[in-house]
Amino acid sequence: MPLLERVPLLEKNLSDYAEVVEPGTIERIRELAAPLAGARVLHVNATAYGGGVAELLATHVPLLRAAGLEADWQVMRGTDEFFHVTKSAHNALQGADIEWDLRDERVYLERTVDNATALEGEYDFVVLHDPQPVAIREFVRGHRFDNNGAKWIWRCHIDLTDANPRVWEFFRPYVEQYDVSVWTMPSFVPESLEMDRVVQAPPCIDPLSVKNLDLAQPFVDEMCRSYGVDPGRPIMCQVSRFDPWKDPVGVIEAFRIAREEVPGLQLILAGSMATDDPEGFHYWELCEEARAGDRDVFLLSNLQQVGAVQINAFQRAAGVVVQKSLREGFGLTVSEALWKGRPVVGGRRGGITLQIEDGVSGYLVDSVDECAARCVEILSDAETARRFGTAGHEHVRREFLSTRGARGLAASLQRPERHRVRSWR
Ligand code: UDP
Repeated sequence: MPLLERVPLLEKNLSDYAEVVEPGTIERIRELAAPLAGARVLHVNATAYGGGVAELLATHVPLLRAAGLEADWQVMRGTDEFFHVTKSAHNALQGADIEWDLRDERVYLERTVDNATALEGEYDFVVLHDPQPVAIREFVRGHRFDNNGAKWIWRCHIDLTDANPRVWEFFRPYVEQYDVSVWTMPSFVPESLEMDRVVQAPPCIDPLSVKNLDLAQPFVDEMCRSYGVDPGRPIMCQVSRFDPWKDPVGVIEAFRIAREEVPGLQLILAGSMATDDPEGFHYWELCEEARAGDRDVFLLSNLQQVGAVQINAFQRAAGVVVQKSLREGFGLTVSEALWKGRPVVGGRRGGITLQIEDGVSGYLVDSVDECAARCVEILSDAETARRFGTAGHEHVRREFLSTRGARGLAASLQRPERHRVRSWR
């Protein structure tokens, strides 16, 4: 079995962030990181691209390095069967009613053992993300990777509020072997979890990444044209994986209702296909069916070369950005759009409620009809859209930029005290 895949990373400089973040932030990170200089940190997740965790780590790990830690990121190796099982587990933990049996557990555990024995190196902190790699902790015991002094951290990015009990009870003993678990919201933490250190920290976005850099309007317009979108007509946009929880079909329905009030409205649905998400193609087909040949609905993905620059341009081109999730751990796309000064209409779910201040930077909605009505409201009132955009940008600057995540982690790694849910703020 070969080693886990090591992800190549860009280099980042902390001082480059000084102009965008709150005053004093960079100094505070340096202060917190000083006692951790040279500490070896390994992050492990299930995919190098597509989805929020990969997006997050692509910035977080270089920032830890810039702060003087020796940080690394490795991706576990799976098979189609393994990712099928982990996607079922992911759906079940987010509340779906799915079949889960001993065969699923066996597939999961066999692949986990392979990954555990492939881990190499010596680390002071090992941070595993989401359920896919969580049981690795169990299977490195006694193995040469198991450095007794290392702290093990499990970072949960999903909402376990309505977790399927059978599946959660399978994962819970593995989670409880960690020294610390980290959650986006306290309400996501199941009551049954027995752990001394349970920490709250929201994910965050990189203001200097290609996805979020400022773009000139002519470039944005040209990018739209190159995909057949008319930048002179109103645009509604949702960026997300093709996944049931993101409700892309609901977005198409909301678009159709909204278009009756906003003539010429177009919809961009852009979503990448992640390697650990076998459902993507199926939901893409469902969207194709719902689109029914409508020439004003643009279904786009990385298969049409839609990458970070295109996503950046589409989010900027939109008169309203939508994230109509039915369940959402955080939804980085919301902060990405707010940071670009776009008003956002989002499902009143999980981490979206941390980001959109209802009626201040956008609207939280509970249905297709409400989503459509709020989009119409924003698209028909330029002054409100502008006000929402300004408020959203400021909120993200204060709360959800990646410098905050680096500061949070540095602080958390050195706090020995025991507590239940505690914010890194
Ligand atoms: N994303 C992308 N291309 C796409 C679709 C999504 O780059 O075609 C990015 C998106 O900009 C965001 C991340 O993937 O940074 C999705 O993260 P989010 O937290 O919104 O959702 P998740 O996929 O983790 O559920």
